[in-house]
Amino acid sequence: MTAITRRGAGMVALASLAGAALPAAAQVPAPAPARLGNPGFHRFRIGSLTVTTVSDGVAQRQVEGFVANAPLADVQAVLAESFLPTTTYTAGYSVTVVETPRGLVMFDTGTGTGAQMAPTAGLLAANMRAAGIDPARIGTVVFTHFHQDHINGLTTRDNLVVFPNAEIVVPAAEWRFWTEASNEASAPAPQKVNFANVQRRFAPYTGRIRQVEDGAEALPGIRAVASHGHSPGHTNWLVADGSDQLLVMGDITHWLELFARRPDYQTALDFDGPAAATTRRRMLDRIAADRLRIAGYHYPFPATGFIARDGQGFRYIPADWSA
Ligand SMILES: [Zn+2]
Repeated sequence: MTAITRRGAGMVALASLAGAALPAAAQVPAPAPARLGNPGFHRFRIGSLTVTTVSDGVAQRQVEGFVANAPLADVQAVLAESFLPTTTYTAGYSVTVVETPRGLVMFDTGTGTGAQMAPTAGLLAANMRAAGIDPARIGTVVFTHFHQDHINGLTTRDNLVVFPNAEIVVPAAEWRFWTEASNEASAPAPQKVNFANVQRRFAPYTGRIRQVEDGAEALPGIRAVASHGHSPGHTNWLVADGSDQLLVMGDITHWLELFARRPDYQTALDFDGPAAATTRRRMLDRIAADRLRIAGYHYPFPATGFIARDGQGFRYIPADWSA
């Protein structure tokens, strides 16, 4: 009976609010809907280095067709277990910026200003501004791989340079593959677009592009770790200051709730699905065993955390926000 009384009292209160005419001056416009992708940047430290993850926004994809080697119902069951929608999913784009003694180093460049790839992406420039990071201060841009969502931010829609003072560091294997036109004929159909796009985006930076081989350093303390498969020369970068380390992941796991929990799933975006899955399991095993902190390009913002072994796969644990 108590519950009914309470509900009755609530209804009376609501009715009198609805009926009360507010003076015009007190009417406040409804707040704009929250923009997807907020908040825009997040800072933490690796040893003495300051690291900032900066959001370039998000994009929605269809779940159907995204996993190439599992029935849709199985994929949807994994999503449902994680309390996620089962028909569409929202993946982020997050760029990692590290302040080093040699200047600001940025890993990958987002999807490009002016919503070049999705109406809810292309926010990197605005969020860099909010974080106090001037593109002219970026001394080095380091790439994990050359898919469009990672390199398009190098240039504007009109293909003008976005980072006027940056040296560009690329994985040598990735550079060799995408700049060799004869590879295009045998590339999977969805990947062919990358050949022309690589030419276009890197051309304005000719003369300041440096290739780095697996195991070598982009700069002191930033070492290439080959992780081929998602792209022919896909590379992780291990940022170290003393014993503190951060692995910049690129697309080893695209969407965590699928590809960490089911590392054998292959995405429609993988250049070589079986190789990508083998690399993914190997890298996640190492990351879990070494308790490595990671930054993941498509992870939920602020896109940094840890990986632990869990059942047949792995689970992601977001890092403490204050850490
Ligand atoms: Zn990607």
